Amino acid sequence: MKLTPIIGLEIHVQLNTQSKMFCACPNLDDGAAPNTAICPVCTGQPGALPALNETALEKGLLTGLALNCQIPDKSAFDRKNYFYPDLPKGYQISQFSLPIAINGFVELEIPENALPGREKIRLNITRAHLEEDAAKNFHAPQGLNGRPATFVDYNRAGTPLIEIVTEPEIRSASEAKYFLQELRAIMRAIKASNADMEKGQMRCDVNISLMEVDDNGYPLKQTLNARTEIKNLNSFRSVERAINYEIKRQTALFEASTPPVEATRGWDEGQGKTIEQRTKESSADYRYFPEPDLPPQDLVELKEKMLHRLPELPSAIRGRMIQEWGFSKANVMFFTNNDGWPEYAEQVMGELAGWLEASDNEAISGSEALANKKQIFSKLVGGWLTSKLAGILTEKNLSLKDCNITPENFAEFIHLLYTQAINSANGQKLLQMMHETGQDPSNLMETYNLGQNLDNSELTDAVKRNLEANPEKVEDIKKGKTQIIKWFVGVVMRDTEGRANPQQAEEEIRRQLDQ
Ligand code: ZN
Ligand code: MN
Repeated sequence: MKLTPIIGLEIHVQLNTQSKMFCACPNLDDGAAPNTAICPVCTGQPGALPALNETALEKGLLTGLALNCQIPDKSAFDRKNYFYPDLPKGYQISQFSLPIAINGFVELEIPENALPGREKIRLNITRAHLEEDAAKNFHAPQGLNGRPATFVDYNRAGTPLIEIVTEPEIRSASEAKYFLQELRAIMRAIKASNADMEKGQMRCDVNISLMEVDDNGYPLKQTLNARTEIKNLNSFRSVERAINYEIKRQTALFEASTPPVEATRGWDEGQGKTIEQRTKESSADYRYFPEPDLPPQDLVELKEKMLHRLPELPSAIRGRMIQEWGFSKANVMFFTNNDGWPEYAEQVMGELAGWLEASDNEAISGSEALANKKQIFSKLVGGWLTSKLAGILTEKNLSLKDCNITPENFAEFIHLLYTQAINSANGQKLLQMMHETGQDPSNLMETYNLGQNLDNSELTDAVKRNLEANPEKVEDIKKGKTQIIKWFVGVVMRDTEGRANPQQAEEEIRRQLDQ
């Protein structure tokens, strides 16, 4: 008997509205002084009445559209009843029977998927619904009077969430991770959330069970086995680790003939394992009933309005950037996973294309050559953006918007590399300087003498000098160890502070050695 994981996700994403879901209190980031953004509505005072935030409704609907969901004509809110100190009303206003969006899907590409036939998958979305967030508890071992205490910060109570529920169609930890990354990119593209998991703006619950399958992967029975729910995972890494841990744990239980029971488990990042918390509630335990203080929402007109506001989505951006500019899949994946990069990369390519058309007409014969050059440029741009520039920024914990290099200057920089006015070692130095000073690359290159601008006699002298300084190495070459020529190229490059062209240096070394 073989076992295969059946995984479904429930993701809560915080909507980036100005105010909370049902009151005018500000929707603050973490870090504000506790209990400074509260009012009678979001702290559940008797008689306080909720009023729906229209922008939250709009952003929720836009999320549904971006996830290819059907938008019903009407949605409505329900009360989900449970008792917990972070829930001042004793119920959460959520959507149960009439959610804002149903039956959607996301198409994913999972390069090098370990599971055959699943490099391209369509993951179905069951539903997306709006709800309010709860407050936050802080457990202090030594609170008032030195005794353990729990403090509650109500700033987060009533902030708007969209909860997205997938069908149980995910088959591995890496598929879950790719889906979450795509969801983050979508939420950012539609400007409904920054969806930063580390900041708690996107939190993921994982439902996972194992299923007995035959050797061809077909299920051996109709019903799913008992699942565990892992609550509140807040990084891509912990989602992956928790799923892989749970697959191992449940497999061991099956092998010991004591299959898992339905339960909620927490993830302990430090110990790297899931820990049983409680057996799971069913929806009956929540005694859902319609929220009497909020009328149902008519979505027909709003849907039309939001369809016009739907921007180009990450998958479409990737397809277009591959098609139009010739970027690699890995490059465009990086771009859409990081804020502002697609626009930046396209501006750089636009500059370079303009330059190609304007200044190089004679050198280009026909459109094929033009396409070739575009390809060379997109390779250079993709590489230098995703590894070098991203590296400089990551090292300093900065994002692209903190970068001092304009797309125009970056394009000029790529052009210097392309025409071999500078080699890649000095290119790295130049890029660093561009970021530090914000100046244009040609000026910096001249000021700091970084270009490949040795004249012939300088190169001849440098080669001569270094050959004379290393007579044994020269002997070795003459005995046939020609690979040492490359070593000399390195020495000459260092000696000239990178201003020599490596190819010309090698030619000159061979000439002087008669090789
Ligand atoms: Zn409030
Ligand atoms: Mn929820």
